[in-house]
Amino acid sequence: MDNCIFCKIIKKEIPNYTVYEDDHVLAFLDIYPRAKGHAVVVPKLHTETLLELNDELLGFLMTAVKRTQEKIDHVLQPDGYNVGWNHGEAGGQVVPHLHIHIIPRWNDDGGSNMHAIVNAPGHTSVQEISTLFA
Ligand code: 5GP
Ligand code: ZN
Repeated sequence: MDNCIFCKIIKKEIPNYTVYEDDHVLAFLDIYPRAKGHAVVVPKLHTETLLELNDELLGFLMTAVKRTQEKIDHVLQPDGYNVGWNHGEAGGQVVPHLHIHIIPRWNDDGGSNMHAIVNAPGHTSVQEISTLFA
């Protein structure tokens, strides 16, 4: 995509601090890190969300997440991680090119966990919701 910032990074039109790269995926340091070593793992094919990514590339992407995490682990030795992605505007996605955040965590960093993202379960019971999936 011509005006996609991550496509420009992938094409080397904009510089990045690469953590991991292979034929299908580029992982680089986030320019506004929320933790030391915060990286994003990006498929080289432009797709906005996971739902448009084909399963073969998804496999490559998840392998690259692991490789990137292994590298961060080796270099920075964090105590833990949060790994995930913002999907769509409601989910807080700003850059419309799929990317998986790897956020290293330390025991004393004062951060929280994924449960802190939202707490608005509504009034429909889990049992009622489950019937929608039956
Ligand atoms: P989102 O909110 O879309 O999940 O996250 C986008 C991420 O991309 C943000 O954490 C932001 O800091 C990062 N980002 C945006 N523009 C650039 C850039 O030009 N270079 C790098 N390295 N990161 C960027
Ligand atoms: Zn793109």
